[in-house]
Amino acid sequence: MKPNTVKKLWIPVVLAVILLLLVLLEPVQQPRTYMNVNREIPYAGEIPVQHDYLSWDSRRRPGEVRDIMYITIHETDNTSPTADASAHAAFLRNITDSPNGWHYTVDDHSIVHHIPDNEIAYNAGDGRTPNGGNMNGIGIEMCVNDGGDYEQTLRNTAVLCAELMAQYGLNVGDIRFHADFMEKECPHRLISEGRVDEFLQMVQEEADRRQ
Ligand SMILES: [Zn+2]
Repeated sequence: MKPNTVKKLWIPVVLAVILLLLVLLEPVQQPRTYMNVNREIPYAGEIPVQHDYLSWDSRRRPGEVRDIMYITIHETDNTSPTADASAHAAFLRNITDSPNGWHYTVDDHSIVHHIPDNEIAYNAGDGRTPNGGNMNGIGIEMCVNDGGDYEQTLRNTAVLCAELMAQYGLNVGDIRFHADFMEKECPHRLISEGRVDEFLQMVQEEADRRQ
């Protein structure tokens, strides 16, 4: 064998060794783990969070514990001037024959927590889809009542999202909108005004502020 040929034989061997090293050094993807506890946040920024849970016999609170994978943003679509967070809390408490529920309502001055974060609430319209909005999301309703300060409601919701992300090991990529789970333009105003990315940016800024 000519020395030249021997030299050429080494080339595939070296390439094979490099390839093998690349495969061996590739980090193994660990499956993501999610939390299934309920943490009662005392404040979101300056705003105290009122923990006002629905009773166990309410159809709106099935009481099934699940993994927390998302935060799902909605708007109430109720423009009545009195339709703030406490009005929605009273609505959920008093009208108990519906299966629909969500975890938080946020307005321009208050936040009410209706259902523990680690329990299912039916707000995403996707039934019992595994890893879906109903089964694994924390539903947040933003008030759009006339006379309310929508910009402040957005800021309060962004702060709440950042708090929840910190509590449950989520990131801004885990924020979802109702429209992501079913064909419904919700949160209506945020989507129709083309402000979804702006809102996500607000959440990211609040999360960065906590670092
Ligand atoms: Zn919705």
